[in-house]
Amino acid sequence: MDTKLSVAKLEAEIVATRQKLMTLGPLHPGSVSLQYQVCGNPSCRCMRAEHPERHGPYPKLVYVYRGRNVCRFVRADCVEALAPRLAAFKEFRKLVDRWVALSIQIGQLQFFTRPEPSKARGKGTKKLSRRSARPSRA
Ligand SMILES: [Zn+2]
Repeated sequence: MDTKLSVAKLEAEIVATRQKLMTLGPLHPGSVSLQYQVCGNPSCRCMRAEHPERHGPYPKLVYVYRGRNVCRFVRADCVEALAPRLAAFKEFRKLVDRWVALSIQIGQLQFFTRPEPSKARGKGTKKLSRRSARPSRA
């Protein structure tokens, strides 16, 4: 396999991925689902023992930001306007994941390929194996 040719191909795909990223408009993480709620008032219809009628449905946006789950109720008249931003965010993540995957593939070709069998018997390998064979002081 020609490493230079493969790297050039992968780099070209990264350029295309970055160009697609630049076309994205406003975005927002998360997804909207409909939520029914119980208010807790013992005399409310939502608390009846038989055939309770919960409140709602209310559109709820859920996403993870900096490792934390975020949950926000969205005004019903805003759900439609939010949809393209949620779609744009999904596309953003897909493209970034692709960029990372391509970068890892390039790294694999440039830095982490196994040495030729003849080179593997060089000095460096012997030193490394001696060092690892040393008994630990612990
Ligand atoms: Zn209620």
